[in-house]
Amino acid sequence: MLRIAIQAKGRLNEQSIDLLSEAGIGVAESKRKLISRADGFPMEVLYLRDDDIPQAVAMGVADLGIVGLNEVAEKNFPVERTMDLGFGSCRISLAVDRTADYNGLDYFRGKRVATSYPNILARFFAEKGIDAEIHTIEGSVEIAPAVGMSDAIFDIVSSGGTLISNGLVEVEKVFYSEAVLIANPELDEDKRRETAQLTFRFNSILESRGMKYVLMNLPQEKLDEAITILPGMRSPTVLPLAQEGWCSIHAVICESQLWERIERLKALGAEGILVLTLENMIR
Ligand code: ATP
Ligand code: MG
Repeated sequence: MLRIAIQAKGRLNEQSIDLLSEAGIGVAESKRKLISRADGFPMEVLYLRDDDIPQAVAMGVADLGIVGLNEVAEKNFPVERTMDLGFGSCRISLAVDRTADYNGLDYFRGKRVATSYPNILARFFAEKGIDAEIHTIEGSVEIAPAVGMSDAIFDIVSSGGTLISNGLVEVEKVFYSEAVLIANPELDEDKRRETAQLTFRFNSILESRGMKYVLMNLPQEKLDEAITILPGMRSPTVLPLAQEGWCSIHAVICESQLWERIERLKALGAEGILVLTLENMIR
């Protein structure tokens, strides 16, 4: 039986539970439990602080974990990065006072930089040959320059609103992160097989995101032209209609192409167009 560690509360908690649940794995949402048995899959769920997930997986306390790549890279424990999960995107950036005369990375030589990600930052500065003082602080990094604790910060940015309200400006985007599935590198054969089942389900879910199932009626004579507009897993499904000279076509279309394709199909004479949400796409 697999044991997976997820964030107990915080930004990744809900989407981790949602992903498991879309994969047919029911997880108790009780925030007070440390561990619970999942429904629908041989799995236990361990609820941890995100900082502790890489270590728990490296030690084998959990077999798998869902955690931000930023935590994995910062902690640097020996874990396998099994798959990227497409949520929790953010970046870690260097930011300086808005009034600073920033002229490139050399600006940081001899400067004090406050961060909760000292290892990622130290690796970056070492790579660029920059000698700066790194000050590790756990929270409220963005106020460090204003209170005189540092000259710059290295912190998570998503929209940039927090930086602006603290009089800072993002000057270097250093590290891009999203939630990832990590695994203990020494899983036995049974656990590897169960992990493969899980990643198969996750992949199907991620692939179907942003896809729509479209059906419409079309004059038979326009079929060949319509097929060139409609992509599908293999090719669109075509069914005859009771009315002579008409058929019904079904296809899967990526959301970003949906309206452009529909306009072209309408121009061909398509009618009764239905667009449905796709729950899963199993290849
Ligand atoms: P914990 O109590 O589990 O230690 P935390 O306060 O350290 O939680 P959260 O703020 O819940 O962490 O963020 C969890 C993860 O969400 C981050 O490590 C990062 O991977 C991701 N994330 C995505 N967007 C943001 C953002 N705007 N700010 C912070 N984290 C973000
Ligand atoms: Mg944390």
